[in-house]
Amino acid sequence: MVFSLLDELQQSLRERADAGLLRRRRTLATPQGALVEVDGLQLVNFCSNDYLGLAAHPDLIAAAQAGAARWGVGSGAAHLVAGHFVAHEAFEQAFAAFVGRPAALSFATGYLANLAVVTALVGRGDAVFADKLNHASLNDAVVLSRADFKRFAHNDLVQLERLLAESTARRKLIVVDAVFSMDGDLAPLAEMLALAERYDALLYVDDAHGFGVLGDGRGTLAELGLQSPRLIQLATLGKAAGLGGAMVAAEPVLIDWLVNAARPYIYTTAAPPLLAQAGLASLRLITEGAGLRDTLRRHVAAFRGAMQACGAQLLDSATPIQPILVQDNQRALALSDALRERGYWVAAIRPPTVPTPRLRVCFSAAHSDEQVAGLCATLQELLRA
Ligand SMILES: *Cc1c(COP(=O)(O)O)cnc(C)c1O
Repeated sequence: MVFSLLDELQQSLRERADAGLLRRRRTLATPQGALVEVDGLQLVNFCSNDYLGLAAHPDLIAAAQAGAARWGVGSGAAHLVAGHFVAHEAFEQAFAAFVGRPAALSFATGYLANLAVVTALVGRGDAVFADKLNHASLNDAVVLSRADFKRFAHNDLVQLERLLAESTARRKLIVVDAVFSMDGDLAPLAEMLALAERYDALLYVDDAHGFGVLGDGRGTLAELGLQSPRLIQLATLGKAAGLGGAMVAAEPVLIDWLVNAARPYIYTTAAPPLLAQAGLASLRLITEGAGLRDTLRRHVAAFRGAMQACGAQLLDSATPIQPILVQDNQRALALSDALRERGYWVAAIRPPTVPTPRLRVCFSAAHSDEQVAGLCATLQELLRA
């Protein structure tokens, strides 16, 4: 039995390899940054979500070191047992104040936060309304919640409204990525909030890619000027914030409910308090990061100009996530390989992560203008070939 199962897995891996869908990890021998050493190669890195270049910032390193000296390394327990520290409290309060909400709750990862929020708010007899391009962690959360899973086509407000109007569910929760992680475009959040009000739903916004980047760093809701007690905001901290972990900001009663009822919050060890201490430093860098965000916008504009000039198939994205659609998986892999040979690291993203294969180019304020120009020139040459 065990051995036939192993044979089956081997066969499945072979099939994936034949379809150009095998995944493997590449190993970094340097800190995250614009220039990294990967599997023995020096590459200019256009793969990471370290949008502001903070992952190895000296202030964060110093704060993490000070945090380790002050609090040790491990938290030792879950938040409700003995793992909740002064550092976590201070970071939650500072985060809530920064994004302009009354309360916030910290999580060890964004994936866990999504599982926690959705499963604590809805269950059997309730309904979740979700964009088809939402992040996998949100989809997993809905399945775990056992609520009815109503998916609408990407950014399709007409279909969303129809689903809301038809629904007889007791509780309704709309769930969307604020910035779509593989496409870089935004959800129409103002219109969605209006629908949430009309149909008495809550709106949960996963701002993994907007926090730190949009709205002067406060995220997509701040960018769009949206405020409402119906809004629940997730910021993940492993991307622009340069840390790891996540924060959920919402009304105090909702935060209290999560602490009491969200199993993915309750039954896991708290993140090391040194990370919360580094989080306070990260909030300062994000607050003072207007220049970093200007640099990021300059890189995105230069890239889009150069790619439009050579007829590359871009998506409608103004964020640091800039996909180039290509005809098939093999072409995506071949382009990614050719870029690597020329010193550039760009991910080929394929099904099932996305419906259509693409190169996903991610910009960081850590990139120099020369690095961006070099990527553009190399891509222009490769795409013409
Ligand atoms: C990265 C990401 C997550 C998961 O956050 P982690 O902290 O990496 O677990 C959730 N949602 C979206 C949209 C993401 O891009």
